Amino acid sequence: MGEITINNRTLGAGESGEISLHVGRLPSGARVSIKTHVFNSLNPGPTILILAGLHGDEINGVEIVRRALSSGLFENLLCGCVIVIPVLNVYGFINFSREVPDGKDVNRSFPGSFRGSLASRVARMLTKKVLPLVDFGIDFHTGGDNRFNFPQIRYSRRDPAAEECALQFAAPFIIEKPVIGKTLRKTAKSMGIPMIVFEGGEALRLDGFAIETALKGLRRLLHAKGLIDTSEISGQVIRLRKTSWIRASHAGIFIWSKKSGTKIQKGETLGGIFDPYGNTRVPVAATRDGYIIGHNNTPVVHQGDALFHLGYESDLVK
Ligand SMILES: [Zn+2]
Repeated sequence: MGEITINNRTLGAGESGEISLHVGRLPSGARVSIKTHVFNSLNPGPTILILAGLHGDEINGVEIVRRALSSGLFENLLCGCVIVIPVLNVYGFINFSREVPDGKDVNRSFPGSFRGSLASRVARMLTKKVLPLVDFGIDFHTGGDNRFNFPQIRYSRRDPAAEECALQFAAPFIIEKPVIGKTLRKTAKSMGIPMIVFEGGEALRLDGFAIETALKGLRRLLHAKGLIDTSEISGQVIRLRKTSWIRASHAGIFIWSKKSGTKIQKGETLGGIFDPYGNTRVPVAATRDGYIIGHNNTPVVHQGDALFHLGYESDLVK
């Protein structure tokens, strides 16, 4: 493998270490650093980036990476190098917030600038100091507030190397997505780095099923790339080419009866919206055949609120 240098610190073959990337200071004067754990094996191989906390309130992703670290998953690599960043958006993490304090989203600020807004500076740190070293990467996310995502991998359309990573990870759903401007996935793609995104669980909440599903997938991916050995086999994997939302036709108390992961048919009742006085109930019906890949756990909804995320145009790939 040889040596790897991040932020002027060099680790030799077989060496591991923690490297801090200084991004700024809090108004109190405390330093803010992104902690990077680097595991460099003795043998040549790919360098993989394992990232979480790009959205500071998506703690389930942070917990996946924490468990991978604490279980020693990267400690005896057969080849290659693993760069782990458990919390990228430190500002959001300490504020229980998706964004940085000025409200900007780091994942809409790539490739970023060291003279730009705070989100742009965080993005730049990753783009400049870490991405040039990376052969491929995985970025752990969750749904937003109250929005649960069934464990799924998203990858960029027309990116065969990313699709291969998605198949090797083998989450229950793998979803082709167009590339969105100013995201990490877009910047990585422009640098020729396949980047896949794991989505599982919801913001500010831990979900054991999503965490375990992610850890199994991560072991399969690292095994497929030759970095570790595992006997972890995958379950069924369904590829989805399109997604859409079912939205609330009425305001009221929302109670779902079909949850994420369920295969559904057009017209099937998935839940209901009730007025608070016990008078009316409006059923929420499936708008097409497909799978529920995410649902809203909020108890009160307004008209137009997203209730169920559906995936369709499916095929069974494993
Ligand atoms: Zn996210």
